[in-house]
Amino acid sequence: MDKKKRKELSKQREKEELVEFRQSLPINENIFPKLFDFLDDELEHGCDHSSVITKTFLQKNGVSNIDEVIEWLSENGGYCDCEILANVEDLFDYLNPPKINSIVKKDIHKQKINSLKTDFCFHIEKVPSPWNLIEITSTNSKEYQFQIGKNNNCTVSLQSHLSSFQYDNDEQWINLWINETELNYNLEDLTIERIQLGNYSAIVAKNKNWTPVKIWCTNKDNPQWLLKMNTELSRHKGDIKEFEKLLNNIL
Ligand SMILES: [Zn+2]
Repeated sequence: MDKKKRKELSKQREKEELVEFRQSLPINENIFPKLFDFLDDELEHGCDHSSVITKTFLQKNGVSNIDEVIEWLSENGGYCDCEILANVEDLFDYLNPPKINSIVKKDIHKQKINSLKTDFCFHIEKVPSPWNLIEITSTNSKEYQFQIGKNNNCTVSLQSHLSSFQYDNDEQWINLWINETELNYNLEDLTIERIQLGNYSAIVAKNKNWTPVKIWCTNKDNPQWLLKMNTELSRHKGDIKEFEKLLNNIL
């Protein structure tokens, strides 16, 4: 077996292991980073070699299967609060996508802008709160992304329209969700919904078992571009309301 093939196989194995890991989680994966932050703060006063701080956090956050979570944490090397922080936190590194290596990163410039008119007829004069419009410039391209506030939990990127997009083809949207999330199991609850937002039509792909929600939004009168929203299951309804405000400001 040649080197390239071996590398591919080990990558594939890593992917499968991650899928298995995510499947083993007793609660939504996005709760864990918050738990680690909480432990980081609370452990200043030391660990009494129990999981009392973790239990407090889980109670506060309305987690109902606390025993199951505690058992899962100890199975993964976290028998007490300090071990949970020391041994389990790294397992969730995958939630922060790998940083683009520094050389490439240097060439990327991000800038907040207040209005935008592109040569493919996207035009907005005023970006409504709480949205920010970010212009991302790299060596040979410019991209535009709206985001709510300062963080990346909900982003909307502007894309020039792909003619291959078939509005009515559920399978295409399902496959896009799978490709983008790289989640390829527990898909029986993956649903495609079509909603109307003013003059715009949107496709919502979501799955009650998973966090990522993907929304594609187009305007039939102006098919040259589309907006693609990335958000999360727990917040997508509120984000769609904010998204409507944004759409209303597009000229
Ligand atoms: Zn400890």
